[in-house]
Amino acid sequence: IQRDQKRNDSVDLSLLGGLLVSGFKKDSCLSRYQSYLYRKASPYRPSSYLLSKLRAYEELHKRCGPGTKPYTNAERLLKPKQTGDSDSEGCKYVVWMEFSGLGNRIISIASAFLYAMLTDRVLLVEGGEQFADLFCEPFLDTTWLLPKDFTLTNQFNGFAQNSAHCHGEMLKRKLINGSSVSSLSHLYLHLAHDYNDQDKMFFCAEDQSLLKNVPWLIMRTNNFFAPSLFLIPSFEEELGMMFPEKGTVFHHLGRYLFHPSNHVWGLITRYYQAYLVKADERIGLQIRVFDEKSGVSRQVTNQIISCVQNEEILPKLSKTEQHHKPSEDEEDEDFKLKAVLITSLTTGYFEILKTMYWEKPTVTRDVIGIHQPSHEGHQQTEKLMHNRKAWAEMYLLSLTDKLVISAWSTFGYVAQGLGGLRAWILYKQENQTNIDSPCGRAMSPDPCFHAPPYYDCKAKTGIDTGNVVPHVRHCEDISWGLKLV
Ligand code: GDP
Repeated sequence: IQRDQKRNDSVDLSLLGGLLVSGFKKDSCLSRYQSYLYRKASPYRPSSYLLSKLRAYEELHKRCGPGTKPYTNAERLLKPKQTGDSDSEGCKYVVWMEFSGLGNRIISIASAFLYAMLTDRVLLVEGGEQFADLFCEPFLDTTWLLPKDFTLTNQFNGFAQNSAHCHGEMLKRKLINGSSVSSLSHLYLHLAHDYNDQDKMFFCAEDQSLLKNVPWLIMRTNNFFAPSLFLIPSFEEELGMMFPEKGTVFHHLGRYLFHPSNHVWGLITRYYQAYLVKADERIGLQIRVFDEKSGVSRQVTNQIISCVQNEEILPKLSKTEQHHKPSEDEEDEDFKLKAVLITSLTTGYFEILKTMYWEKPTVTRDVIGIHQPSHEGHQQTEKLMHNRKAWAEMYLLSLTDKLVISAWSTFGYVAQGLGGLRAWILYKQENQTNIDSPCGRAMSPDPCFHAPPYYDCKAKTGIDTGNVVPHVRHCEDISWGLKLV
């Protein structure tokens, strides 16, 4: 019985408390079954309501996904001349268009998935070949990849804020009302960082009720827009049941959706075993400098060092050399090995920290190993190996015990969210002199929505949407952003 209990426990762990279902071929996606061996169990349990929504979604995706009859019929609605059977059996879709850097992609897909679950739509992602190289399929016996020959694909480039099928543009031209929408086969939703006031009407209950009847919604977004969904009255109650602990939306949905492919899993596990597994404590330090030309700055160096030392993430340096005898018994060692995983596009800060902790001992006598997997120089989203490394590094950061991330960066948000960690955020030093508070602790593991609407749909006036309910607040790193806490 004990052995059965043990097996049940490990099955429960590997399926992340019921978040994941079994039945996938193990070899096709090793990370799905092995991730629990590398990370601590999540402090957050998914609610039973969330689990039931996920199971219902999986059924829907299997019934309506690519290759099924309803899918073929729904796609037929998009063709100029509709012929034959076009009964799509109530199947509706939201298509996420390929856009932006990898961190942005991951958090925006998670938001689109949440929206799909709330509106009984099937999520399909336009990802090309790269996508399948980076991520496993999250849904059993079907695919989330938008088929290459999708009818509208060759129009995607033309979808913009001013295009005829854009929801915001149609509002501007007063073309949206109950009867006009019911005849539409598709709408383009512009939800990227540069969207305008009309596009933002997406977040109004009235517009949501009109969108309900459109079979295909094609969405361009690079944002984590979940916080604003919590402010739409028609979604509020269900979201509350799905996420009783509010700031864990990305944590659960991210772990549910994003499983590194075997290539990427190889990068993660080899690195972990070579540099991190033996440490007593693992510390992640994500350094994202948006101004690529700036090189190493004294300001940022000081900021990083004050943050990690003031917050006791890493020890201070000692001025005196203490020689300790090597002990034969490893157990007797009275110092700890702390492994620091740095991710950055350049090596400057890595060199400084590594040299610092080599040249002088620490006051605690702990020894500090500093490691950085890659230094890619600049963003190269079109390159496969570049993206594999970026994904592997986000994931490795998420496996650490303590995490420090950079303000504004979705790369860091992904690491924090997958890890279920409340990271220390290195604030952006706007005026270059204020180093009073180099970093601060995140309120929750969820990402920040960088471009939320500031509109009260009922009163038809501007409001501070960070001040409406206690669980949607302004972000730690972007004062106008919104996050769930
Ligand atoms: P954000 O710009 O920080 O919000 O993050 P994104 O992931 O959306 O875009 C930045 C892109 O730059 C990443 O996807 C990578 O392609 C690259 N990049 C930035 N920082 C790093 C890093 O530390 N390591 C690696 N390997 N790539 C990085």
